[in-house]
Amino acid sequence: MRKKIVAGNWKMNKNLQEGLSLATELNEALKGKTVNCDVVIGTPFIHLASVAKAIDTTKIGVSAQNCADKASGAYTGEVSAEMVASTGATYVILGHSERRAYYHETPEILKEKVLLALANNLTPIFCIGEVLAEREAEKHFEVVKSQIQDSLFGLSEEDFGKIVLAYEPVWAIGTGKTATADQAQEMHAFIRKILADKYGQAVADNTSILYGGSCNASNAKELFANPDVDGGLIGGASLGVDKFMPIIEAF
Ligand code: PEP
Repeated sequence: MRKKIVAGNWKMNKNLQEGLSLATELNEALKGKTVNCDVVIGTPFIHLASVAKAIDTTKIGVSAQNCADKASGAYTGEVSAEMVASTGATYVILGHSERRAYYHETPEILKEKVLLALANNLTPIFCIGEVLAEREAEKHFEVVKSQIQDSLFGLSEEDFGKIVLAYEPVWAIGTGKTATADQAQEMHAFIRKILADKYGQAVADNTSILYGGSCNASNAKELFANPDVDGGLIGGASLGVDKFMPIIEAF
């Protein structure tokens, strides 16, 4: 059975002390509680080691928000997948629309990042999603299909089985505009069909597909009730335990 996952993406928010407080507060809130999904927090690079040390990583997975497309060497300012893994992090968010748009991450670059993440035993949370103009032009299915094909379909069946996908319509990220539960389900079912065509039904059925884009305490339940929505990638609402816990508890 595929995993249900609620993953936070802190983006470039919280200094180290604030990040540690948030992580430990979440850790406390989850202590002794049984929740029906895996919980992950995606922190800035510099927080990873301290956060991983401060919390129970068997209850909260720690994720980076990016990694380099090179294994090591003279790449000033970059952070490799191996370095991420050495902090105790076990996930890495890759292909977020902000990185595609602002840092010009191409499908080819993302392909390399995915391979390096997998080689270092990190679970990629691979983001896909169309911009508003593409949805309005009814190209959203085509766009999402290409994003998956171009960066992931070179993977073996075994490696593909280690990927978590996050469908994040770009027009819904940080805008307060959420995809309706029907729009989310429609796209998630489409994605699962593409995976089944390429890797077979068993792989498709085992792949967790998260929804992201203004998901919050008031819409999480409805979104997660869809059969093909296996959780959420949460930006703004992951920055406070009071907002993040109800999303976790929506399962
Ligand atoms: C995100 O950045 O992955 C995201 C979904 O952001 P928000 O929840 O703030 O829309």
